[in-house]
Amino acid sequence: MVSKEMYELGAKSSVIREIFEYGKKRKAEIGAENVYDYSLGNPSVPAPEIVNETIRELTENMLSTDLHGYTSAVGDNETRKAIADDLNNRFGTAFTMNNLYMTCGAAASLCITFRALTEKDDEIIIFAPYFPEYKVFITSQGGTPVEVKCNSELQIDLEAFEKAITEKTKAVVVNSPNNPSGVVINEETVKGLCAILERKQKEYGKAIFLISDEPYRELVYGDVTVPFLTKYYKNTIVCYSYSKSLSLPGDRIGYILVPDEVSDFGLIYKAVCGAGRSLGYVCAPSMMQFVIRKCVGKTGDIAIYKKNRDILLEAFEKYGFKTAKPDGAFYLFVKSPIESATEFCETAKKYDLLLVPSDSFGFPGYVRLSYCVSTDMIIRSLPKFEELAKEYGLN
Ligand code: PLP
Repeated sequence: MVSKEMYELGAKSSVIREIFEYGKKRKAEIGAENVYDYSLGNPSVPAPEIVNETIRELTENMLSTDLHGYTSAVGDNETRKAIADDLNNRFGTAFTMNNLYMTCGAAASLCITFRALTEKDDEIIIFAPYFPEYKVFITSQGGTPVEVKCNSELQIDLEAFEKAITEKTKAVVVNSPNNPSGVVINEETVKGLCAILERKQKEYGKAIFLISDEPYRELVYGDVTVPFLTKYYKNTIVCYSYSKSLSLPGDRIGYILVPDEVSDFGLIYKAVCGAGRSLGYVCAPSMMQFVIRKCVGKTGDIAIYKKNRDILLEAFEKYGFKTAKPDGAFYLFVKSPIESATEFCETAKKYDLLLVPSDSFGFPGYVRLSYCVSTDMIIRSLPKFEELAKEYGLN
């Protein structure tokens, strides 16, 4: 009567959502101030004021039928031009609006890209730990996800990566800064990865695409820089979203960038348009496209995330918890003191600390904390973490 595969997807909620729902129930029982919910990656920093100013200006000054009407399927020209100019200023590239396709956020960017590239039997490599939806997006677009585990530093294991590439490999997905680990892929690793891809393209006589999923691009702390991948490898396609950088996750706006240098650019860009069409992802939300025209290159106040990260890092070091090097995004990936991260999370629940076990990220033995929460909640949760650490004899 219905698609079994779709029913199963809809009926089964993610571990993260389950924990979040548990948190809501628990807050009703003991008071919101007594629950320390680190489950969801919903930005806690408000969108910069220019976003609201622009919305006010648009609603006052723009003809309503234009503001809320359809743009062209690929997106508004001026918006795409503004994004191309901003990228060119920041990265010394030479993109034009014709390299861009506007989308409803990174999820749509990824689904469209997978749909556009995937042919029968194609494999797409993902690095664990990964954003769990990758597997759903890849399989639903007809591809087969192939997992490659990161090394103990949570950087890409280049040897394992090279071994995983076969003649069926169509693309590789990288996500830096990373959800769930917060790790930024360093330049040395990027160069190594690209060298392997070049070699394998030659060996198999075909293009292998690098899909850079980068909703956290601007969320980096200290003097760390995120290599801009189109500059390192020609066959790079960027999937971007304003959900995190501008704190607009509910407004569903992002883009796909297909550089001219990509092999068979015309073919690939048209396939992106076709995939957008077949998935019903045409004409991204118009008002948000007009907002982006004005707000491109801006971010929310990311200093707040840095402050949150630093408070947690300092405390965790004192308590004896080990974390991956968290240079970006708003996640901490903490090593579970016992083998089962799920069991550790259950124990943390006794202290009303809501953490996500890493199994669904394809990398068991860790827990993820989303520190896009109020600094006040973090400070109040520290004594609980200290008790939790004591329970495991860490400090
Ligand atoms: N990719 C990664 C790594 C994410 O963490 C997320 C959302 O959390 C997405 C993609 C989807 O982003 P969007 O909300 O823009 O669809």
